[in-house]
This record gives sequence, C-alpha cells and structure tokens, in this order.
Amino acid sequence: MVVDAQFPASAPHVIEELKKLGEKPFKYLLNTHHHGDHTAGNIAFKGLAEKVVAHQNSLVNQKRAAEKANSLDQQLLPDTTFGTGWKAPVGDEKISSYYYGSGHTNGDAIYHFENANIVHVGDLVSNRKYPYIDRENGAHIGNWITALDKIYRQFDHDTMFIFGHSREPEKITGNKADVKAFQNYLQNLLTFVSSEIKAGKTKDNILKATSIPNAQEWQGEGIQRSLSAAYDELKGA
Ligand SMILES: [Zn+2]
Ligand SMILES: [Zn+2]
Repeated sequence: MVVDAQFPASAPHVIEELKKLGEKPFKYLLNTHHHGDHTAGNIAFKGLAEKVVAHQNSLVNQKRAAEKANSLDQQLLPDTTFGTGWKAPVGDEKISSYYYGSGHTNGDAIYHFENANIVHVGDLVSNRKYPYIDRENGAHIGNWITALDKIYRQFDHDTMFIFGHSREPEKITGNKADVKAFQNYLQNLLTFVSSEIKAGKTKDNILKATSIPNAQEWQGEGIQRSLSAAYDELKGA
C-alpha cells in the first residue's frame, strides 16, 4: 500500500523502487486529501493499485478541481470512500483511518499503521512551515485545532508521525510533540489576528506581519496565507 501519490512525473519513481521489494500488487493507494501534490500522481497507479481510498469529501473536491481544470481524464479518482473512518487488514498489518472534520480542507483523513505504530497525518501537520489553509475547500482553523488535540491524545509517545510538509526535509517525520507544536502555531495565529482586529487594524495591515508571536519556529514563505485565512475565518467572511 502507498499513502499519497505526489505528481505524475514523480510517482513512477516510487513505483519503480517499490517493485524492487517484490512483484506483489498494490492493494491500496490511500489519499490523505485531494490536493494535487497528493493525488495528481494517482494516475500512475492506474491498473496497479486495486483500490484508491479517500474520505468522501476528498473525492468530491478532487473531482470538482479536475472538472474546473478540464483534466478529469488525467485523474484516478478514489473508488473506496468513507465518512468517519475506515479499517482494513493488509498482510500482518492493520490500517485504521480517521476523520476529524474540517482542518486543512474538509476532507483530511489520517492513516494509522497499527502494528508499526506509524501514522500519516497528511497536511493536518505542516512541520515548522507555514501551512496552506484551503478555505475554498472547507478548511477551518478553529476545528483544525480541535482535530489536532484529538490526534495528540489518541496516539502515544512511541508513535511515529509522517507530515505532509516540513520546512527541513529530514523533519518530515516526528512525534507527538511536533503535533502539539503545530497546534500551538494555529492557536497563536488565531490569537494574534484576533487581537489585531480588536486593535482596529485593516486586513492589509495585518497581512504585513512577518512572524506570528509565540510561534517563531514557523518560517519561510507563505505567512500571508495563514494571516488571510485567519482574518476571513474570524470575520466570518
Ligand atoms: Zn494540502
Ligand atoms: Zn500538501
């Protein structure tokens, strides 16, 4: 099984490497959410993966985005979808998927490999890197914070987490503390933007901030995406 497929140009490389491990078929391609950097490469698994699994909103979003871009023929859409969760045995391993409502989009699922105790959280965690907050596809920072709290409490200190994005490539995996740190980032983002609104600042002025107070570990490009999403959410726009 494979979690997420990146892009059509990069997916064949991972397929090639995985085939070196044996000629067994791919039972499942699991999608964490619909964004192109996670599902555009699904097409490379056509005829190779028995089933493509995703949350039901992820399928809706992927289909809508492809229709809008007139690229439906280049998509391999999920054929197995779920609402609150999904479970399946694969060999000696057990996969459990969970959904916590709106976060990074409205269709983010996480996949737990129970025996290995590894969980892929997709873009629900952006490790020390400003996240994309996709309000057009149902993102909600307030509920995202709640979702991360549930994830934090559900897993243990030995659980290895795989993140959708990381500022430093070698920190694409981590532990519970990193989940908490990202939750703190989102909380401090809301607190900061809320206080700026109360101080009478305009959206344009708020977007000029270059860091989020009490969350300086988050750096790089894209702080405006966070600030803008927080502003719109707080204003109910
Ligand atoms: Zn994403
Ligand atoms: Zn992503």
